[in-house]
Amino acid sequence: SAVKEWKEFDKSKVYMADLESGLHYLLRVELATHKTLEGEELKTFKDFVTVVAKLFPGRQAVVKLLETLLEWLVSLPLGKIPYDAVLDLVNNNMRISGLYLSDTVQWVGCQGSSEALRGYPCSLWTLFHVLTVQAAQQPDALANTGLEDNPLAVLQTMRRYIGTFFGCQECGKHFEDMAKESLHLVKSLDEAVLWLWRKHNQVNARLAGSMSEDPLFPKTQWPTPDLCPSCHEENEGLHVWNEAMVLTFLKQHYGATNISPKYTS
Ligand code: FAD
Repeated sequence: SAVKEWKEFDKSKVYMADLESGLHYLLRVELATHKTLEGEELKTFKDFVTVVAKLFPGRQAVVKLLETLLEWLVSLPLGKIPYDAVLDLVNNNMRISGLYLSDTVQWVGCQGSSEALRGYPCSLWTLFHVLTVQAAQQPDALANTGLEDNPLAVLQTMRRYIGTFFGCQECGKHFEDMAKESLHLVKSLDEAVLWLWRKHNQVNARLAGSMSEDPLFPKTQWPTPDLCPSCHEENEGLHVWNEAMVLTFLKQHYGATNISPKYTS
C-alpha cells in the first residue's frame, strides 16, 4: 500500500484519532471474524460496549453511537446475534449521525514505521488506560449497569475482551496469566489504574528487542524521565518508581483534557 504521510505528534498527548480508529477496527474488523455472538462471547461484547458507552470521553457523535449500540444490545431478547446485525446498526447510525468512523484508520500517536507495527494494539492499550482513568475519576459512571461497585469492572472487561476477541492469541494468553496471578489484589479504582500501568511495563520489558518492536519506538519502562521526572527515584543506587506520582501522571496523561482532537475528521 501507499506510504502514508508521517503525522507530527506530541508524545505527551493522547490522540482521539487513535482511539476512534481503534474502535473502528474493533467493531468492523476484529469482531467480523466472529459470524455470530452468543453465550459468553455475547456477554463479553455487551460488557465491553457498556464500559465504553459509559466511560469513553469521546466526541458526542461517537458516544451517541456507542449508547445506541448498548441500548440495542440490552433490549435484544435473543441469546444469539449475527455479527451482520451489529455492523448494520453501526453503519446505519453512522449514516444518520453523519459520523464517519473513517474506513481508513488514522494512526497518530500509534503510527508505526511500517503497516505491521504499532497501530491497533497500541490503540487498545491506550483505550484501556483511558477507561481505567475515567472509571477512577467518575466512580458513579457505571451505576445501574450491573458493573457498578466493582473496582475491577474495566479490567475484567478488558481481560475477557482480550481473551475472546483480540486477534493476537499469544497476547491473550500472556494477559490471562498476568490477570490470574495478581488481578485479585486490586481493591480500588486507583489501584486498577496502577495495575494496568505495571502490567503494560511488564509486557514492554518482555517485548524489548523482539520482532514487534518498532525501531522508531523502542520498548521502554514508561513514563520515561522526560515525560515524568518525579515518577523516578533512586534508592541505594537502584531505580524505583514513585507510585503516587505515577498515579497522578497517569490521571493527567490519560485524562479527558489531555486527549487531542488533532487529525480527527
Ligand atoms: P504499546 O506497548 O502498544 O503502547 C502504546 C503507548 O502506550 C505507548 O506509545 C506509550 O505512550 C504508552 N505506554 C507505554 N507503556 C505504558 C505503560 N506501562 N502504562 C501506560 N502507558 C504506557 N505483543 C506481542 O508481541 N506479544 C504479546 O504477548 C503481547 N501482549 C499484548 C497484550 C495486550 C493486552 C495488548 C493490548 C497488546 C499486546 N501485545 C503483545 C502488543 C504490544 O504490547 C504492543 O501493543 C505493540 O507491540 C505495539 O507497541 P507500541 O510501540 O505501539 O507501544
